Amino acid sequence: MAGQLTTFTFLPLLFWLCATGAHAAVPARIAIVMDDLGSRPGQDKQVLQLPPAVAIAVLPMTRTGPVLARQAAAQGREVLIHLPMESVSGEDAAARFLGQRMNRQEVLAFLQQARKRLPQAVGLNNHQGSLATRHPALMAWLMEALNRHQLWFLDSRTSADSLALQMAQAHHVPSTWRDVFLDHDPDPQAVQQQFQRLLDKARIQGSALAIGHPHPATIANLQQLLQRLPDDIRLVPPSQLLKHRRPATWQQSLSPSQKAAKNWKPLPSSTCCAVPKSKSPPLR
Ligand SMILES: [Zn+2]
Repeated sequence: MAGQLTTFTFLPLLFWLCATGAHAAVPARIAIVMDDLGSRPGQDKQVLQLPPAVAIAVLPMTRTGPVLARQAAAQGREVLIHLPMESVSGEDAAARFLGQRMNRQEVLAFLQQARKRLPQAVGLNNHQGSLATRHPALMAWLMEALNRHQLWFLDSRTSADSLALQMAQAHHVPSTWRDVFLDHDPDPQAVQQQFQRLLDKARIQGSALAIGHPHPATIANLQQLLQRLPDDIRLVPPSQLLKHRRPATWQQSLSPSQKAAKNWKPLPSSTCCAVPKSKSPPLR
């Protein structure tokens, strides 16, 4: 009797699952952040043609960065402060950066200034920073500032020795990390291979985050690749991949993307972004 009862209960449920497709696997999630925005106005604007779930990380002290951030936020796109941090090599460092010569007050003031220039920002990631991110006091002060401004943290992972993520977790700052760089080699084929790596990682891990740069080849490739994503992959804003909840003291109104994403339409491909042949050196 008990066996019959179980069969009668189970069969309609199985039928319903098959009929509705409710058994289908949950799609793996990918997020993409475009770094280094604000210094090349022509190229930067093309990034705004990508789906609005693609976030932008803006260098705060650039002349055109704040305008771009405003336009991106109006599209419902997430904006990050791309904070210059001291690197081991020191080469190609921005004029002002978070560095080991700073004290706590200077770090807090630097963040305050960046925040003022990019009030739309919901998160922050590091530009370079292979030296600064391994400095425990600097990272502790940075996390104190992020809590103060209610900004989440994305570790760009420019160094294997980075303490940034550890410090973010210790300070209860919602955080995540970069899994793949899309364009260390901006050759179109290399970008496509890195994009495939992103999908593979997402399928294994459940989600994965990539960082790209506004190279024309990266933008052109993303335009095409994001329009024909496989059914088992979903593009989401990076704030949906945070590994820790926001503290209860933070406001809960930080995710602007979904509504604008629904209404967004890509421009015809002829208006944007021919794939170039030239190569440029990797950024770190
Ligand atoms: Zn950068």
